[in-house]
Amino acid sequence: MDELRPAILSPDHAGLARAASLLQRGELVAFPTETVYGLGADARSGRAVARIFAAKDRPSFNPLIVHVTDRKAAERHVRWNDTADRLATAFWPGPLTLVLPLKDGHGIASLVTAGLDTLAIRVPAHPAAQQLLRAFDGPLAAPSANPSGRISPTSAAHVLAGLDGRIAAILDDGPCAVGLESTIVGLSSDDPVLLRPGGLAVEQIEAVLGQPLLRRSEVSPLNAPGQISSHYAPAASVRLNAQMARPGELVLGFGPVVCDLNLSPTGDLAEAAANLFSHLHQLDARGQPIAVSPIPGHGLGAAINDRLSRAAACRDIV
Ligand code: AMP
Ligand code: MG
Repeated sequence: MDELRPAILSPDHAGLARAASLLQRGELVAFPTETVYGLGADARSGRAVARIFAAKDRPSFNPLIVHVTDRKAAERHVRWNDTADRLATAFWPGPLTLVLPLKDGHGIASLVTAGLDTLAIRVPAHPAAQQLLRAFDGPLAAPSANPSGRISPTSAAHVLAGLDGRIAAILDDGPCAVGLESTIVGLSSDDPVLLRPGGLAVEQIEAVLGQPLLRRSEVSPLNAPGQISSHYAPAASVRLNAQMARPGELVLGFGPVVCDLNLSPTGDLAEAAANLFSHLHQLDARGQPIAVSPIPGHGLGAAINDRLSRAAACRDIV
């Protein structure tokens, strides 16, 4: 990772054009939204999204929220439904994130959803965020622009204090108005579920829906797997730190090893992160146990190993 100071850009024509071209090249740009400053990357590029996790030092790959310009742009990526329509009409643009099933040809990198078949998506209201999305002309994955475990940034100075040397640029448009994360509503099964309280009051959402939102605790994972599950679990058993394949196993490799699919033949952890979920899905589809080569624990390797050990563990409790 280079140690360059991030460019501090104004939300004028030149600043927005520069920010958009950095994003198009797969770089990270922090930008203001009405909730908090987001750390944006091209949501279609696994390599760009891997940089988000590296910059934040996130110990785990959690699914990220994708930001788009409007409902039409959202409909390119997710299967839309009537409830989404009512909520989007009432609250977009604004601090409401909807979780909906991914549609065929969605184009979103699997690292964004951490391998899930649903996508969290929202339309930010902040003018600079809107202008950046239009200049970039694509979906931006953007968690809060702070190192993992630190509080969310509501000014460019907060972003700089946390991420100096780790990101290409900060689009500075002063403090954020809401200062709270977006409210997240799951719409991928019959009844809408409150997945995270946030900047939009639950009562306002319920008034539009004419029904109460279910709480996470009220939803059985069996009835609504894509709705509340927070991580992708392969059906196959997963064995970690495998030096050699046992009979019948498929090998998910790392580095110069003989294997069925390789996360990164050159041992590049960012490439491995970008490939992790799509490779797991591909091997899982073949219906055999999966053995995974040892992966170093430093940098992005910590998050890769975290996800793999959850994949290995969850089989035992199913
Ligand atoms: P943040 O790090 O602030 O962007 O938070 C993203 C939030 O969205 C986390 O709480 C995630 O668990 C949640 N989230 C993102 N994608 C999904 C999804 N597909 N299903 C359920 N929750 C999601
Ligand atoms: Mg955060």
